[in-house]
Amino acid sequence: MKSVVVTGSTSGIGLAIATAFAEGGANVVINGFGPAEEIEATRAKLDGLGKGRVLYHPADMTKPHEISDLIQTAVEEFDGVDILVNNAGIQHVEKIEDFPVEKWDQIIAINLSSSFHTIRAAIPHMKRKGWGRIINVASAHGLVASPFKAAYVAAKHGIMGLTKTVALEIAENGITANAICPGYVLTPLVEKQIPDTAKARGISEAQVKSDVMLKFQPTKEFVGVDEVAAIALFLASDAAKSINGTHISVDGGWTAQ
Ligand code: NAD
Repeated sequence: MKSVVVTGSTSGIGLAIATAFAEGGANVVINGFGPAEEIEATRAKLDGLGKGRVLYHPADMTKPHEISDLIQTAVEEFDGVDILVNNAGIQHVEKIEDFPVEKWDQIIAINLSSSFHTIRAAIPHMKRKGWGRIINVASAHGLVASPFKAAYVAAKHGIMGLTKTVALEIAENGITANAICPGYVLTPLVEKQIPDTAKARGISEAQVKSDVMLKFQPTKEFVGVDEVAAIALFLASDAAKSINGTHISVDGGWTAQ
């Protein structure tokens, strides 16, 4: 039975990915923030979906020692981390000269450095088994930029470099490292940035959706969380064993432009 860790999986894309792996019968460690009773309800629901067990670990992705404890918990409870999904992420939208320094540090920590810490801790256990999958949820913003998202775009470009480097280091160990690059997915993360983007650009919230977010997404539709989860399942499968050090875009054609 495979052991899966999904960071930032109490909501949005991470929750969809954790759900898909739980349905598939894996042991899953979920992680992320939220009200305790909601998290426990989510954990219990996922626990009943397949043959595996589902645990919750509260590690804060800005704290390396808590991240190390998250991986250690998976190792102790499920004999390793076979599939590591680095998904936790936050956003802040503001022009660079007003961008709060602490927001920069927090976004780099959560959206980039946490993946260094999880990967660093998980790889010895993947090597021990001669099998592993590292899946980094990057973004179209790992490939192209948008204004007012300095930290996010920098972190997501960084995760693309980390993915490629790790892929080269573990290629002979039955392990792969890849990124998924979604366009706009309507999750709490996106909903929260609509008012900020409206303020930063001096436009209405309806205009943010139509003229900013979906302006560059040629399908003019948000990507579904289930579509991202399906890619994670594929990358974790044996069919994807030769896909390494690259990314799969799911952005309705955004980065084809
Ligand atoms: P979301 O806000 O719905 O979920 C984010 C998750 O991360 C939550 O579970 C939250 O509790 C957790 N989290 C936040 N800070 C954390 C911390 N310090 N420690 C541990 N967990 C923490 O967001 P989402 O849209 O599902 O985003 C998930 C990932 O997908 C992010 O990396 C995001 O950058 C990426 N992404 C999202 C979109 C989109 O349009 N929604 C597009 C491309 C990429």
